[in-house]
Amino acid sequence: AKRSNDPCSTGKFSNEKQNRQTEFSARRQKIAQQRKSLPIASVEKRLIEEVQKNDILIIVGETGSGKTTQIPQFLFGAGFCRDGKVIGITQPRRVAAITVAKRVAEECGVELGQKVGYSVRFDDTTSSSTRIKYMTDGLLLREALLDPYLSKYSVIIVDEAHERTVHTDVLLALLKNVQSARSRSVADDQGVNFGKKIVNAGMSLEKEYGGQSSSFLKKDNHEKYAPLKLIIMSASLDAHTFSEYFGSAKSVHIQGRQFPVDIFYTCHLEEDYLDASLITIFQIHSKEGPGDILVFLTGQEEIESVEKLINNRLTQFPEGSQKLQVVPIFAALPSEQQLQVFAPAPSGFRKVILATNIAETSVTIPGVKYVIDPGFVKARSYDPGKDMESLIIVPTSKSQALQRSGRAGREGPGKCFRLYPESEFEKLEDSTKPEIKRCNLSNVILQLKALGVDDILGFDFIEKPSRILPFLNKFFQVPTNISELFSLGALTDDCQLSDPVGHQMAQLPLDPVYSKALILASQYNCLEDMLITVAMLFVESIFYAPREKQVEARIAIKCFSSPEGDHITLINVYRASNDFLEKRSIEMGKAKIEKAFKKWCKDNFISSRSLRHARDIHRQISVHAEQMGLNLASCGDDMLQYRRCLAASFFLNAAIKQPEGTYRALASGLVVQIHPSSVLFRQKPECIIFNELVQTNSKYVRNVSRIDYLWLTELAPQYYAVKN
Ligand code: ADP
Ligand code: MG
Repeated sequence: AKRSNDPCSTGKFSNEKQNRQTEFSARRQKIAQQRKSLPIASVEKRLIEEVQKNDILIIVGETGSGKTTQIPQFLFGAGFCRDGKVIGITQPRRVAAITVAKRVAEECGVELGQKVGYSVRFDDTTSSSTRIKYMTDGLLLREALLDPYLSKYSVIIVDEAHERTVHTDVLLALLKNVQSARSRSVADDQGVNFGKKIVNAGMSLEKEYGGQSSSFLKKDNHEKYAPLKLIIMSASLDAHTFSEYFGSAKSVHIQGRQFPVDIFYTCHLEEDYLDASLITIFQIHSKEGPGDILVFLTGQEEIESVEKLINNRLTQFPEGSQKLQVVPIFAALPSEQQLQVFAPAPSGFRKVILATNIAETSVTIPGVKYVIDPGFVKARSYDPGKDMESLIIVPTSKSQALQRSGRAGREGPGKCFRLYPESEFEKLEDSTKPEIKRCNLSNVILQLKALGVDDILGFDFIEKPSRILPFLNKFFQVPTNISELFSLGALTDDCQLSDPVGHQMAQLPLDPVYSKALILASQYNCLEDMLITVAMLFVESIFYAPREKQVEARIAIKCFSSPEGDHITLINVYRASNDFLEKRSIEMGKAKIEKAFKKWCKDNFISSRSLRHARDIHRQISVHAEQMGLNLASCGDDMLQYRRCLAASFFLNAAIKQPEGTYRALASGLVVQIHPSSVLFRQKPECIIFNELVQTNSKYVRNVSRIDYLWLTELAPQYYAVKN
């Protein structure tokens, strides 16, 4: 009787529910089958035994063999989460951490954020019940600031170690320390040998850092910690480096599954690889059998522009004859859209995945049979002599090219189209240089200092950073080499973190210059505006101008543009979006607002994806700033104050106009030009500050604002007075 009263069990409703249930169990069955068919499934028992026997284990296996998704589940099943302990898995890329966590939650049949969760900068889904936690390597480093023993983890898996990001390299050294300290804590009550307790100014933990350096934990901490298991995972077959670094640690190889892939080269060098990619996509689509296409591009801008080019071209053909579905994947893509890349294309459609190098090894996308590889990647590059970091588009290494082509042969024989001649392949470097050799280390040094590592040169890196010297003592260097950290006032003359600025800077999850900008803005009464700036600069591109609508786009952007430069222009966009959303939120429901917001963005040639992302980041750093007790004021229309603050914050990136219209960067002496995307491109003011250096054929600076030259000596005398 009760059943028939239940509205859910009658009529149409109950059918729907039943259907949903069958669908659900069909999907679960399919997932279980997929899991069982992964190469790694057959070695579960052996892997568990190896982890139990070895405190450090190196696992090497082909991309797609199931390392990232399965091993944490195996360990969970084997009881490594007893007593509420957590298995942590680090990834160099946020997209990988997010998509894999979602997948594993689904495989386990749990809600994301319960047993399985992820935590990346500006986005944390974990809870106290999370036992399998995916995160970025950078995030785990920050956690070590608050909990130097990483005491909640029973196992830490450093995934994609072959990528050798700076964070991975630092993490490996740190974990080596933590592991031995935790073992020793059981044996003889000693502490982490680099540690002092860190203050979190923002979370009002006790103030501890004023005292002597380096041994807070050693003296006071008598707690005992359970031993920590370390697993290093890599897709490159060379386990040797890692094994040696960890004292001849045991390594195991997991056999992958790889079908033959035919490689095709172009006859000549291609002038425009985006154009060449487009042509190749349509060639494959019209001439080759079924199977999805994966295209490797260098970043969001390229991906969005190719996405539009494809879609434009599709509209030129009669309905139905060109069934292509385009799905992008890149770091800044909102996380709810990232999973779309894994969904099969609608029946009869061919999927074209436009990806950055995250699809090389970090995420494996099923269904790919054709790979298009233009042969480029966007990389950080650092010129230590000039103390300048820039993003440049460079040729891939041979091993990257091989990984990329390998993506075509996971489910059957495939084809890879390299958009360069074979002779060029021979010229490529064998493998990519570790990032620690080619990036600005000030961020990492700040963090290591905050962790109490005093002797950075003596720190046990897997490979020593090539140019660490400028950071050690400013007196050994010519003025241009005075490191960022001294100039920003984060370090004292004897290389200690300054109080409070250095400590505050280490707390903020931002690059040191941006952290400093927020701290200064609090004093200049324009923190609210600087928070917007930092959030807007964090996302890759707010404006987009499709090739065929350049004129319209320029007119639209004019409504926001400020004669003072890009920073205020970005603030204008942000404030306009605030006005728009506030007005609508009174009139409309959530879904309608989202639609209206997208339209507003489109009409104004703004990327709604990027703007949403920036708004989200703004919200989160505001929380940090508030917790740190910074002064959350806005300068309103007093933009002079704000620009002075820009000068005080980014003085290291000041440049002055030369007679011929180029600029000379004051710190580095580099000759640069204002990027065409800047609102100051034509105006060319006498003195500017900028946030980004991009190198193509010439050196361009982006995100530029006009400042007064005299402000530099007034507001950054520590740097400019010396030079004068
Ligand atoms: P590895 O780490 O060894 O490269 P993974 O554990 O990442 O391998 O992937 C194992 C399998 O899981 C692959 O076949 C991949 O396609 C699949 N997979 C991973 N993430 C997802 C997802 N979000 N949706 C669907 N399939 C996925
Ligand atoms: Mg993996």
